[in-house]
Order: sequence, then C-alpha cells, then structure tokens
Amino acid sequence: MSSPRLRFAPSPTGSLHIGGVRTALYNWLWARKNRGQFLLRIEDTDLERSEERFTVDILGALKWLGLGWDEEPLYQSRRLDLYRAKAEALVAQGHAYWCTCTEADVEKMREAQMAAGKKPMYDRSCRDKNLPAPEAGDRAVVRLRIPQTGGVIEFQDLIRGPIAVAYEEIDDFVLIRSNGAPTYNLSVVIDDAESRVTHIVRGDDHINNTPKQIQLYRYLGLEAPKFAHLPMILGADKKKLSKRNAVTAVSAYRAEGYLPETVLNFLARLGWSHGDQEVFTLDEMVQFFDFDHVQRSGAVWNPEKLLWLNGEHIRRADPKRLAGIVAEDYADLFKAAGARLDRVMTPTGARLCGLVQPKVKLMKEMADQLVPLCMPAPVEVDASGLKWNKDPAVKAAVKNAVQHVTDAWEKRVSEATQTARAGTDTAWGTTPSLGDLGLTHADIEAFVKQSAEQFGVKAGDFISPMRLCVSGRAASASFFELVEVLPWDVVGPRLRKVQTL
Ligand code: GLU
Repeated sequence: MSSPRLRFAPSPTGSLHIGGVRTALYNWLWARKNRGQFLLRIEDTDLERSEERFTVDILGALKWLGLGWDEEPLYQSRRLDLYRAKAEALVAQGHAYWCTCTEADVEKMREAQMAAGKKPMYDRSCRDKNLPAPEAGDRAVVRLRIPQTGGVIEFQDLIRGPIAVAYEEIDDFVLIRSNGAPTYNLSVVIDDAESRVTHIVRGDDHINNTPKQIQLYRYLGLEAPKFAHLPMILGADKKKLSKRNAVTAVSAYRAEGYLPETVLNFLARLGWSHGDQEVFTLDEMVQFFDFDHVQRSGAVWNPEKLLWLNGEHIRRADPKRLAGIVAEDYADLFKAAGARLDRVMTPTGARLCGLVQPKVKLMKEMADQLVPLCMPAPVEVDASGLKWNKDPAVKAAVKNAVQHVTDAWEKRVSEATQTARAGTDTAWGTTPSLGDLGLTHADIEAFVKQSAEQFGVKAGDFISPMRLCVSGRAASASFFELVEVLPWDVVGPRLRKVQTL
C-alpha cells in the first residue's frame, strides 16, 4: 500500500477553533503513524467571510502546536476557475445540469414538501430541461444529477462502521452557486482527488455530505477515499462546543498558559482512548492512535481535567524550555512590572522555573512567580497577612532571627568574594548565590531551623516574612531552594527588607 495522505481543511472565517485542532490532530497522528503525508488546505471560497488574519491565526496556531504540514498549503480561492471548469465538464457529460430556479422558488418547494410531511428537497424541475449556461448577467446554478432510483451509496466509516444512503434520500445538490462560486461539496472533492487524499477524517457534522461527495467521485471516475467521522465535542451543558459554553480559540489557551502538548493530549483523549492512560507524550500518541478506539458518541469537554493535565505536562517539561516559554509569551507582564526578562533566559532563570514547576498548573502562574524574582530591586509586599502582626513580641523576635541569618550568610558571601569567587550568572549581578558557595537548601533549612530555636520563634512565623520578601509572593516555590539558587545580590537586600515591615 502506498503511504496515506491526509489533510486538514479549515475555513478561515474565524480563529482556529479548539474542535478543529482535534480534527487536525487525528489526521496528523494517522499520517505520522503510517509515515504518510499531512496536508493543509485553506477553504477560503467564501470570499466575504474568509479573512487573511484568520489564515494567519490558523497557521500560527498549528505551528505552535507542532502540527507541521507537508507540501505547500493549497488555497481554494486561487482555484475558482478550475472548480467552475470541472462543473461545466460534468454538465457536458450529463452528470450535472443548469438550474434557473431562484432561492425563493426552492424555498417554496421546501415549505410545500414539509407541509406534506416529506423531506425537503429540490423538486428537480430543471433536471430535464437541458438549460444552457446562463448569459452574462443571468443567474443560474449547477446541480448534480443524482440517479433517481434503485441505488444506494455505501461506505465503510472507520469509526461508525457501514453506512448506506439510498439515492432517493439525496438531493440534486448545488455545485456552482448563482454568483459563480463553487459549493463546499464540489471544491472539496476536486481538491481531495487532486491531492490524492486517501483518508478523510472530519467532524460528523459532515456525515450527510459524504454520500454526495462519493457520487461526485463516481461521476469523475475516481475511487473515493476512506472516511472517518469524529463525534462532536460537547460543552458541559451537553450542547455542541461553542463560544457560548467554552473558550474555543486556540490562541486563548496559549495566553492562559496551557502547553501545546497539553492541548494535544487533552484533545487526543477527547473521543479516543488507550486503556486508562491519561497522560501521553506526542510520540506515544503517534504510536498508539487508531480509529478502532475512537468513540462514536459525543465527547464532553472537561476544563478541570484540562487544567490538571497541564500541571502534569508542566512537571514533565524541561525547565529551560519553560523559561523560554515565559520569556516569549509573558514579555508584556515583565515589562509592565519593570522585571528583567533577560534574567529568565539564564541558567538561574531555568533553575527558578524548575523550582516553581511543581507548584503551578498554568504557565501564566509560572510567569507570575517569576516576575517578582526577576525584579531588579526588592519588591513591594503586602505584609498584612503575616501571623506575627498579632503579637509585637513575636515580630521583634522574628526580626532578630532574620537579622542573625542574614548577617551570617552575608559574612560568608563577602569572605568568598574577597577570594574572588564571582557569581556564575552575570545577568543577575556579580555576587554568587549561597548554592555557588556550596550550601544546599538542606543546609539552609537546617540553619534556619536552628536559628528559630535559638531565638525562640516558630519556624512558620520566621519563614513567612522571609519568603514574602524574597519571592514577592505569600505562596511560592520552596524558600530554602530560592535562597540556594538566587544570587546574594538579590537575596540579601530582600532579607534586609524584612526589618522594614
Ligand atoms: N472546511 C470544512 C470545515 O471546516 C472542511 C470539511 C472537510 O474536512 O471536508 O468544516
């Protein structure tokens, strides 16, 4: 068997929809799994609703997700003459015909049929008139001549199994509209045939189009590809996923702090399963994906699971890569706060991401933790939540204890720097971190606990103000680890700030 060719065919009438990503993903997975091709086609024949900015958004979102495509994308708007020529050839062969019924005529037919309890369809009144192509200025459409009786169109859906539709059920549908534009059913078949697409994987909202498309393949003398129709994605309200019940633009998930692998993993599991496994790498998805384990019923969107999954993927990611994401996606946040973005893309920045990594479920939260850590000067903090505020004696004792540890560490640093021991990360200043001097977070913790005892303060009361001043946040990565990793230039002045609270 030659290698399969699949495609994703979005219409650029809006930004890339999260449901569209699942369609793209399943196509992409099958192509990659079988060493085939994944093609991209922009279905922009609706010249009024299609916009260049949406194409840019779609291509950008696919790149962000890592769903790369093979070959040049095909733009349908550049092929309008071809579709028309193909439709005219079908007319010449007797497989299609010109129809001059107006939209109002067709509407009347439909109403009458519905009133008679029948399926509303075009009544085929122009079918045998053998009308010529319209003169300039006249309006007419091209319709496909579906055989009238005695036949069925059958296909084996890779997800739903065998499907059969009788000819009587299929309308003589329009191929070319009265404005000269091709319909979706025409252009999709011409392009899939020309691109030698072998598998069409798309939402089951298209299932009624498939018999029509198969008939077109027959008239064109071509073998139809295989079809797989994916179950709808439903919102929590069990209605079709839309802007009304969910955030649908992929770009919004990126801005919120989801990793691309989370989005792909979540969408892969939305309708497909591999045993009980929930967390997949991209390679695992490629390896395990199959159509046999795609469910037929609608799959319900679950934002809590998405958030949980993102935490899982953040924990599995390389901290250096996370630092890169913070720098790329949250530059504005740093700028607005006056934090130094250059500090993120350093070995210290990556280590800080590693410390924050277990604590967050969104990259936005990671950025929010990194901003105060990357401020050039001690940050303003809100000390009102500290327990010591209830008891001035406790507060005084804690301040003494903080003074004690700060002085001890500072002494150590200044001794080391006299023997020309410089920091390792110049974007952060010239002093070393306590870690550079050989202290581990366990040493730091032991010293803090010992000092707490010495000054008769509870460890919690002692650590909270230091954490607040060093991290700029009431909840942060491990205080001891932060103190190990951050250069003393950063830690020292922040610890001294505790005295001013
Ligand atoms: N442009 C169509 C859509 O977005 C493509 C459907 C198909 O894959 O055939 O629904």
